[in-house]
Amino acid sequence: QTIFIPREVDASETRVAGSPDTVKRLAGLGFDVIVEKGAGTSSRITDEDFAKAGATIGKASDAGKADVVLKVRRPTDAELRGYKKGAAVFATMDPYGNDAAVASMAKAGITAFSMEFMPRITRAQSMDVLSSQANLAGYQAVIDAAAEYDRALPMMMTAAGTVPAAKVFVMGAGVAGLQAIATARRLGAVVTATDVRPAAKEQVASLGAKFIAVEDEEFRAAETAGGYAKEMSKEYQAKQAALTAEHIAKQDIVITTALIPGRPAPKLVSAAVVASMKPGSVLVDLAVERGGNVEGAVPGKVTITEGGVKIVGHLNVPGRIAASASLLYAKNLYTFLETMVDKASKTFAINRDDELVKATMLTDGGAVVHPAFAKAAA
Ligand code: NAD
Repeated sequence: QTIFIPREVDASETRVAGSPDTVKRLAGLGFDVIVEKGAGTSSRITDEDFAKAGATIGKASDAGKADVVLKVRRPTDAELRGYKKGAAVFATMDPYGNDAAVASMAKAGITAFSMEFMPRITRAQSMDVLSSQANLAGYQAVIDAAAEYDRALPMMMTAAGTVPAAKVFVMGAGVAGLQAIATARRLGAVVTATDVRPAAKEQVASLGAKFIAVEDEEFRAAETAGGYAKEMSKEYQAKQAALTAEHIAKQDIVITTALIPGRPAPKLVSAAVVASMKPGSVLVDLAVERGGNVEGAVPGKVTITEGGVKIVGHLNVPGRIAASASLLYAKNLYTFLETMVDKASKTFAINRDDELVKATMLTDGGAVVHPAFAKAAA
């Protein structure tokens, strides 16, 4: 069976869904692997690296030979036209609010796997693309903030005087937020953080940061069974906003990462709160792609307010550290795919009763099969 790893068509996508390591392993499982020429260029992987690992270097039209396609982004309609009916396609499909694109995948007859639906259970930890990419995004957010901030982050005591440590506040302490906290701490900042999930409190403290939140009854019940945040009531949001507003005015850097699965990002920092910050302060909004946590954040731009506050709204933040992000993403895909290969006969077959398959399969046999989207499609 043949696997195809294309060069991503979206010009802003720097990542690639394979690495020399995963190509070698895929070949070891018995697959013929074709990697499109230049697929790894923006991730610092050359065609020779892929070829040495056992891949054939091919062209976009080789997609038509593939039984399995590994991608970063959802296939475009043009890409879909080039696939075999019945091909299994693995990618971050970003299906919420994109019903037409989901319908196109069904119509193309592909079996589409939406990697972001990987359940957060122990067996699937190594396949969790949201975690692997959010981890790097959290790191990169601090690097971006430090680059935009005109001062040093650590306290520096020098013969010529003392530079005070920067104060960093991280809003949303999930995977990205926790990595942002750890990174800012490593750079010597004084770090505080908030989240609406009670479980976050201990994790924040264990990283040496101070936890700040309204801890009422609603807060104590705010976590879903899957470990995700619930959307909070208007009342809670108002109380929390009042508490954080006062705190933010004293911060040098604010990094926001707050998301609710399938919902627009909660608005956490109003324009008035941004205006209360000192000139030269920096906000990095990692939620900008889902509507943003910060009022005034512009997707894909760094803006400077009248008051001299920088708001950073970079898109595809994991793609800003593509060489690392691709390695982890490729490994996530490989680990999932490996569960579908019979090691003895070296054959690839999808077990539709497997819970990981059920959770991630979006389209199959010409229909939208994922329960969250099948209704909209019907
Ligand atoms: P996410 O990306 O969905 O959201 C980021 C963070 O924002 C979350 O911590 C969320 O609680 C927080 N948030 C939402 N609304 C907020 C608001 N109004 N104010 C402040 N913060 C708000 O989250 P994630 O990184 O995917 O992590 C979600 C949970 O899943 C965490 O508990 C994480 O530890 C857990 N997790 C488990 C596994 C596993 O078991 N395999 C893997 C990864 C993550």
